[in-house]
Amino acid sequence: MNDSIHRVNHEIRQRRLQVLRVTDLTPRMRRITLGGEELQGFTSLGSDDHIKLLFAETPEQQQALEAREMARDGGARPTMREYTPRRIDLEANELDIDFVLHGDGPASTWAAQATPGQHLDIAGPRASLVVPDMFDSYLLIGDETALPAIGRRLEGLPAGRRVVAVVQVEDIHEQQPLPSPAQVDVQWLIRGQDDVLARVQHMPLPEGRVYAWVALEKALTRQVKAALLEKGVPDDALKAAAYWRADGTADDA
Ligand SMILES: Cc1cc2nc3c(=O)[nH]c(=O)nc-3n(C[C@H](O)[C@H](O)[C@H](O)COP(=O)(O)OP(=O)(O)OC[C@H]3O[C@@H](n4cnc5c(N)ncnc54)[C@H](O)[C@@H]3O)c2cc1C
Repeated sequence: MNDSIHRVNHEIRQRRLQVLRVTDLTPRMRRITLGGEELQGFTSLGSDDHIKLLFAETPEQQQALEAREMARDGGARPTMREYTPRRIDLEANELDIDFVLHGDGPASTWAAQATPGQHLDIAGPRASLVVPDMFDSYLLIGDETALPAIGRRLEGLPAGRRVVAVVQVEDIHEQQPLPSPAQVDVQWLIRGQDDVLARVQHMPLPEGRVYAWVALEKALTRQVKAALLEKGVPDDALKAAAYWRADGTADDA
């Protein structure tokens, strides 16, 4: 057994899945349950794994999607967006993805109109970062886009672990239940009212050996990461990732 933080690579495959169900979790968060034979073999070992959702915005991209040429160099490639596999049930052949309906962009627009029977092509995950339960406590900081990964991690932690989750949401209606066997203190912060950076700067770190995880808008992620390093969180127990960009550029690589 590997008891250090480690990466596991997976074979990347394009899968065509069907929309089975559409469930609104909150006014701005929509769960889409996908299924189909092509889900078989899907592997996701890390709670913050990410898959690419593939969208065709032009006829050339549609052709590339049909030909399953998303990995081809040059030529048209589908538009890609990163999402978290929120729940995987290979017995039932189901995969849940939770979408923030932020109102713009191919992924959010697709989720807003999704209905059972439609298709969605996905690829990945390319790899999983496995964080074994070797910490006394966890500090999870994110916004709505991070809730799927935070939810997965909380479900996977054992009783006795202490977790502080700082979650920035649009308003109180965006709070969602985050069940966990662990001892969890969820601090909901409202965008435009509460200052995430100031909260992190002034909060005591959870006790013992702490693992910190951050996923917010790009600029805020960088600031929160710097604040955590300054507070003494060791670099090798800290993962910070930009989950979206306010300047509108997307990770389409
Ligand atoms: C590893 C990883 C995992 C992720 N997991 C999830 C997930 O499970 N669920 C999820 O909803 N998102 C998740 N995201 C975030 C998601 O990939 C981005 O929000 C992405 O930009 C959405 O694509 P889009 O096509 O809807 O909008 P884009 O075309 O990328 O952007 C269009 C416009 O919308 C703005 N925008 C994008 N996202 C947001 C937002 N959240 N709030 C407000 N404005 C926004 C942009 O600034 C831009 O102006 C994840 C990101 C990463 C890197």
